[in-house]
Amino acid sequence: MKKSTEVLVIGGGATGCGVLFDLAQRGFKCLLLERGALSMGTSGRFHGLVHSGGRYVTNDPEAARECIEENRVLRQTMPHAIEDTGGLFVTTPWDPPEFADRFYKSCQECGIPVQEISIAEMLAREPLLNPNISRAFDVPDATVDTWEACRALVHSAKMLGAETLIYYDVVEVLVENGAVTSVVARHTITGEELTVECDLLVSATGAWGGQIARLAGCDVTVYAGKGTMVAMNYRIVNTVVNRCLPPDDGDILVPVRTVAVIGTTSVRVMDPDDYVITDWEIKLMMDEGEKMVPAFKKFRPLRAWAGVRPLYQEKAAGTDLRDVTRAYTLLDHATRDGVDNFVTITGGKWVTHRQMAERTVDLVCKKLGAERPCRTATTQLELPEGKTYYTLGERLKRLETGELSGQLICECELVTRPQIEANLAHYDTNVINDLRRDLRLGMGPCQGGFCTYRAAGIMHEHKNISARETNKALVDFLQERWKGITSIMWGRQLRQAQLDEGIFVGLLGLDKLPVELSGAGTARIGEVETEGYYELGVEPSMTMHD
Ligand SMILES: Cc1cc2nc3c(=O)[nH]c(=O)nc-3n(C[C@H](O)[C@H](O)[C@H](O)COP(=O)(O)OP(=O)(O)OC[C@H]3O[C@@H](n4cnc5c(N)ncnc54)[C@H](O)[C@@H]3O)c2cc1C
Repeated sequence: MKKSTEVLVIGGGATGCGVLFDLAQRGFKCLLLERGALSMGTSGRFHGLVHSGGRYVTNDPEAARECIEENRVLRQTMPHAIEDTGGLFVTTPWDPPEFADRFYKSCQECGIPVQEISIAEMLAREPLLNPNISRAFDVPDATVDTWEACRALVHSAKMLGAETLIYYDVVEVLVENGAVTSVVARHTITGEELTVECDLLVSATGAWGGQIARLAGCDVTVYAGKGTMVAMNYRIVNTVVNRCLPPDDGDILVPVRTVAVIGTTSVRVMDPDDYVITDWEIKLMMDEGEKMVPAFKKFRPLRAWAGVRPLYQEKAAGTDLRDVTRAYTLLDHATRDGVDNFVTITGGKWVTHRQMAERTVDLVCKKLGAERPCRTATTQLELPEGKTYYTLGERLKRLETGELSGQLICECELVTRPQIEANLAHYDTNVINDLRRDLRLGMGPCQGGFCTYRAAGIMHEHKNISARETNKALVDFLQERWKGITSIMWGRQLRQAQLDEGIFVGLLGLDKLPVELSGAGTARIGEVETEGYYELGVEPSMTMHD
């Protein structure tokens, strides 16, 4: 297949989706290629925090200023995806007491609204916090649903004529006479090849930016900084809680929907696709959580996952990745490497994606000789039909009033059969994970134990796919869920995993089902020799893809 466009964007994370929307709004013909689903890279594997900037005021004031600027903008442009939780910086008995005054002063210098509150007020707001906390500061942190945000960005871009193709992996960048002319991408499910000719290529591939640059013959080092997070099976706090100390491991607890997420670590990995979650990281998260919330370990860890920060600086970094700036970098490969029609945007934070997109498209305009102002800071995004801010309570209300009808398929997140059917009718992939990202199916306490086989049955019926293809979709989904629980299997979570295994392996015989393998015929689960991929319940491959 062949296509051509004016500007081609690689990467469907927050940055790429932001660039696509900005390009479309400024009237460029544009197309985005993403090798997975939207937000499947770091943007879907992060802490979910719309930083006030407080985290960076003392060590990276430039990044702090970018954060507060964008924090204000995003609340206006994508209110459907943002929860205004507010944020607290607290001095626990383990934190340097003298840091609090420095933090307060630095917030003021960076223009971040900050107010000290009494411990009584803090405890009234968050009763589970450690009563031995000595100081507490209120800042405008918030949280975001990245799937909703990115979907709204590409939907708004589509309304303006942009195109997005997911599950296309860019494998070649063609350079002729010192300029990029086209790329070749391969569909990750069907294997189909696609060539896209373009006037200009934007790589918004985050931690993979170095790989794409190399395809065009440019030498770019993007450090991949792994960070591990653990979601607890309860919304322990309603406010984002940060430790009042220089950025460190396990220093932020974020309420996300029905859970609370503690994170993170910061470890350099050589390949953004190949890393493991180690025991010390989980133990550290649990120990640090206990310092903020004394009963922390009594709650059940639900899932652990990791993402890779794209960290870039022209000068080689030392051993501690926390010293590498969180600010973003825009590279024009014409001036940097002698390869024209090619720019890379990398680094930064989720919260700064819009600003990163604006700077990138400013450069695109300059390179293509167009003068078109950016309007993304003042335009509220269009929402796909039927989308509103999601809360579990709101879904429950709609169920109880009969507004949402039909069989309940996922009891944890209250997802019904008609919702699944509507979703399947809209998307042309057979990926149960897409249902998870869109409807939150399988994200609750049982981690898909009860809803997944029901959803697979509905998919089989509605997509008219073979039993073998359905089996594969089911196993792929369970394998992804499985990766997130292997490192936290103790206590009640271990019991839950055993129950799930009893359902899928004991009752449904999942370990013996025949599956369809793309391009490789069929096989029975357990016979496939790819890193134990289909051997549920056996030592898993810990390579994280989603
Ligand atoms: C543990 C952790 C916690 C974080 N917490 C926060 C936070 O709370 N708040 C915040 O603001 N920021 C946070 N960040 C930083 C933030 O998540 C990232 O900076 C941001 O998500 C990067 O977005 P991006 O779009 O640039 O990259 P990504 O989201 O990684 O997108 C790049 C995309 O490119 C695609 N891609 C790669 N190669 C190819 C190819 N060959 N062909 C096609 N597509 C390709 C990938 O699949 C991916 O989807 C955190 C990061 C980590 C690791």
